[in-house]
Amino acid sequence: MHINTRCLHAGYEAKNGEPTNPPIVQSTTYKYESSEFMGALFDLKEDGFFYSRLANPTVDMVEKKLADLEGGVGAILTSSGQSANMYAIINICKAGDHVISSSAIYGGTFNLFNKTLRDLGIDFTFISPYASDEEIEAAFKENTKCVFGETLSNPSLDILDIERFAKIAHRHKVPLIVDNTFPTPVNCRPIEFGADIVTHSTTKYLDGHAAVVGGAVVDSGRFDWNASGLFPMLTEPDESYHGIIYVKQFGKAAYMAKMKAHVMRDIGSMMSPQSAFYLYLGLETLALRMERHCENAKKVAAFLEDESKKPNGKITWINYPDMPGNKNYELCKKYMPNGSCGVISFGIKGGREAATKFMDSLKLASICTHVADAKTILLHPASTTHRQLTDAELEACGVGPDLIRFSVGIEYIDDIIDDLKEGLAKI
Ligand SMILES: *Cc1c(COP(=O)(O)O)cnc(C)c1O
Repeated sequence: MHINTRCLHAGYEAKNGEPTNPPIVQSTTYKYESSEFMGALFDLKEDGFFYSRLANPTVDMVEKKLADLEGGVGAILTSSGQSANMYAIINICKAGDHVISSSAIYGGTFNLFNKTLRDLGIDFTFISPYASDEEIEAAFKENTKCVFGETLSNPSLDILDIERFAKIAHRHKVPLIVDNTFPTPVNCRPIEFGADIVTHSTTKYLDGHAAVVGGAVVDSGRFDWNASGLFPMLTEPDESYHGIIYVKQFGKAAYMAKMKAHVMRDIGSMMSPQSAFYLYLGLETLALRMERHCENAKKVAAFLEDESKKPNGKITWINYPDMPGNKNYELCKKYMPNGSCGVISFGIKGGREAATKFMDSLKLASICTHVADAKTILLHPASTTHRQLTDAELEACGVGPDLIRFSVGIEYIDDIIDDLKEGLAKI
């Protein structure tokens, strides 16, 4: 069935007399009648629940829904997008290993890679998503274990050429991991273009209502872990699990099985059943919301463009990938033909001061650090998240003092544009 239908029906199907919504199983543990069966569960020889750090029936249903939407063999929900990206890397990398990452990634992910994981001994090389094939090739080392990027980056709105990066990663027998938070599986399914692992901050559009922080990792099941000697953690016995060999016991689902049995067991940043239920409700309306986010954002982008062309217009530049003339327009048509997402960035004439005045004048759009919510929200990095930086430092990290990140919601479009008009009139 079409993905719009699967948003509602995948993952949980009520049987005769059962509730139409997935029950919230608020239990840490599960009762069994023999210790022998429980032993088999612990050996991963039987399927079942034993402790909610590792698996919970409510969380499981939502994982199944998300795996279905992305076209993967399995998914794991985590307590945040940060932990999802950390899990995706440490499931196959340890101290002494190396990762190639796009430089156009979320600031939190950049810090996780460049500071925390680097301190733990994993080495990173950052390259532009627009690097040539030769430049990407040159970044590979003997100990490179994966390539990472964002399909549509937060906040710079760069689009990763997934097919090109997947082809190069696969030539080196390593997987491509992509963070698909901004487009969501409704607008882009990276696995169809060759990505092997997909991650999410479910905090954004997937939840959509600013209700729960969460993350997810989805496994395509397509990567051949046996093809090189690079992944002994999957192809050789795991002594912390009585010598289990993940690829032998779980076949295509080896990466996901290891993440649950090993990384989640040891680190434990799982999503709670209550949070998973909210996410489930959010996912039901995802397709409908994404359609409206994109429709509204296109109209806002067109309005801002008109404004920028006026002789004394107050908009200096606009970045929205799904707009002719944008440097990512062709990649957007290829990877996100139904639209990118609701996030737009633009510049205000008059820099930091004018941008602050404009923002403070808005009545509908609220000032929030969040993005990708049902409500229209915006952020001026120069006066908030990046306020300690000088104008020159801001320019150097690609976030100019005039930049406004505008996350278009699903309100009635004329109200959003009227709000912008009034804000612009005040500066
Ligand atoms: C927000 C975000 C994250 C981090 O997710 P949290 O849920 O806030 O931990 C990671 N990647 C992208 C692209 C994001 O937008």
